[in-house]
Amino acid sequence: MQTYVAKFGGSSLADAAQFQKVAAIIKARPSRKYIVASAPGKRSPEDTKVTDLLYSCYNKAVAGEDFMSVMDEIRDRFQEIIDDCGISFDLETELALIAAHLYEGPQKEYMASRGEYLNSKILAAFLEFDFLDAAECIRFREDGHLDAETTNDNLGRALRDRPYTVIPGFYGAQEDGTIRTFTRGGSDVTGSLVARAVHADMYENWTDVSGMMSADPRIVDNPRIIEAITYRELRELSYMGASVMHEAAVFPVRKAGIMMNIRNTNSPEDPGTLIASELPRVPRKHKVTGIAGMKGFTSILVEDSSMNDQVGYGMKLLGIFARHGVPFEHLPTGIDTMSVVVRTSLFDPFRNTIMDEIRDEIGPELLFVEDHLAMVAVVGQGMAYSKGTAARIMKALSDARINIRMIDQGSSEINIIICVDEEDYEEAIRSIYNQIEFTL
Ligand code: ASP
Repeated sequence: MQTYVAKFGGSSLADAAQFQKVAAIIKARPSRKYIVASAPGKRSPEDTKVTDLLYSCYNKAVAGEDFMSVMDEIRDRFQEIIDDCGISFDLETELALIAAHLYEGPQKEYMASRGEYLNSKILAAFLEFDFLDAAECIRFREDGHLDAETTNDNLGRALRDRPYTVIPGFYGAQEDGTIRTFTRGGSDVTGSLVARAVHADMYENWTDVSGMMSADPRIVDNPRIIEAITYRELRELSYMGASVMHEAAVFPVRKAGIMMNIRNTNSPEDPGTLIASELPRVPRKHKVTGIAGMKGFTSILVEDSSMNDQVGYGMKLLGIFARHGVPFEHLPTGIDTMSVVVRTSLFDPFRNTIMDEIRDEIGPELLFVEDHLAMVAVVGQGMAYSKGTAARIMKALSDARINIRMIDQGSSEINIIICVDEEDYEEAIRSIYNQIEFTL
């Protein structure tokens, strides 16, 4: 039998009705042997996540304020799930331990982790699965970084002969037992670590959308759901702002060659988005897998009539940015020109110093800075072995009368990055989307 790891996000486990859906999904496929759970999330847009209630409890406790009313809210969230699902679970004992911790000397990460801890214990009781506390296996170093190899060994050992176990997401512990958490949304990372450790055939990430969208729905109406995407394409799109899960969740499964499937708990019949290292080369229905982008870039242009003859010009110029820890994103060059494109927010703190140093150390004939640029990334494995996509993208922009400020095709040929003025950003995405969706 295959082994699936299924991670359920906060909205998938927000209340008793969601618990029922999750249980039905798990029971529908016996290969779903390892379940990773988030804390109860929002039941409606105005609702508060249990993790946020826990942070607020912690803040009150350290400020010496009364935290009991927030504890009551947390109790209500869990008690309702327990009662409505008819689960036998001693919530009071668990909450008493948390309250005692708060009186003794609260730790922020310990508090934040209790949502996942309790929700997973309750889910395990409901499913009649085992429960494995992530603190026993997921190891953090004292500097707060994950110790990936120890974690992998620990999880492998603990879970190998223990199918049908629920593991709480989002946290682990240092060697001395101090609880540490990942950054927000970190249950995705836990799921990935578990999948790697048990050599899963599939890592399912169950959420409240039917997969990754091929463009930002705030810009494009009803964008197509991506059926399949490679890890490489995913990386390009996420780097450019398309978010589908915690960034760190991709590495463990990608390294281990495990496929991921993003699924919708509220619509389990939808196939979702499949993510794999390699997808069949042809035929891909869509040459462009997705479009993403971001505003907030600055370009620093230098021009020097003798640039072409000077060996090391680029190194000197980039060296100035590197010295201040400002990474560059793109580097379009001409014969006598070079533009360094950076994220404005990272450049701003050093703007004056960097400009002075370029003048002093390089003294170019022309030095010109331009802010308010946006990047649009058109990503698709299918573009690497087909003709005409770039032309169509350019045509879309030209038809929309958008001025293209820069074009950069990554060496892998799976992405084309187009720089436009920030004010043209949304229209650029819409026109490219319409062109590739409806004419390619
Ligand atoms: N509960 C945590 C958060 O709200 C972790 C997660 O849901 O993945 O960020």
